[in-house]
Amino acid sequence: MVKKIAVLLLTASFFLGACGQPEQTQHSGSTANNETGQNQGITVQREEEKQMQTQEPEQDRLSKDTTSKNDIQDDKHQTKTEDQSAKKPEYHMNKVYDIVPNDEKTEEKVVLLTFDDGPKDKEMINDLIDTLDKHHAKAIFFVNGYRVKQNPELLQLIHDRGQIIGNHSWDHIDLSNQSYQEAKKQIEDVQQIVMKTIGEKPKFFRPPFGSGDDDVKQIAKDNNMLFMTWSNGSLDWDAKSKNNPDAIIKNVMDQLHPGSNILMHELPWTVEALDTLLTKLKNKGYSFVDPRNIELKMR
Ligand SMILES: [Zn+2]
Repeated sequence: MVKKIAVLLLTASFFLGACGQPEQTQHSGSTANNETGQNQGITVQREEEKQMQTQEPEQDRLSKDTTSKNDIQDDKHQTKTEDQSAKKPEYHMNKVYDIVPNDEKTEEKVVLLTFDDGPKDKEMINDLIDTLDKHHAKAIFFVNGYRVKQNPELLQLIHDRGQIIGNHSWDHIDLSNQSYQEAKKQIEDVQQIVMKTIGEKPKFFRPPFGSGDDDVKQIAKDNNMLFMTWSNGSLDWDAKSKNNPDAIIKNVMDQLHPGSNILMHELPWTVEALDTLLTKLKNKGYSFVDPRNIELKMR
């Protein structure tokens, strides 16, 4: 009986996108930051994650624990980052996760581009970044630890091509339902595997399903990361967007406002939509904020 239910749930999971229905709940409002949305999608996702965990003994996750070495590398990296962006950030994030200029002389018509749930596929990543490069845009790629473990070379690729890595937890589970210790592990294991792979830790954190309670926010802060959900959902994970790049473009353009924090995913139809979307945004007078030009403290 239990097995039967598990099989049913797994079958159901094939019909859901990686982010599944829970993000739709989050997107139902335009600011989309209601963090109470829970539904069956999460249960389905959970079953998938449980499977993932069984395949993946915990000691495996951090097989090479090199904390002290990591700390040294981290210090080095901070110097490098300061060299790269010697100037002070010109933007900050407000309470509804929009990007806001620090003073009135700075352009307010900007958007932040983000891609969640990777790294999955070399071709998709290269296509996304080719388009970003064409438009001189930087984006945050919010990655899951279990995917980094499966494809560390893809994380390296995103980093080497000059894009920014964010932390999206290890298993893509709803962290607000976890104990403090488990949530901490879900977040900090990603910090470690990213550090081990590219030599620096993520500075941005987005909880799966946009679901993060005070503990999760505190853990992100303790790890020197800026916590965010989003303020403009492309709905690219939704069944209606499948093979429909125009729907993704319309969803973003309909919600467009200065400082839009745009949620997208590493999906084929998003890859297809991106060039037209970025062109339309530019034609509306928007530019793409470099994530490194955003303060790491919300205000
Ligand atoms: Zn996600």
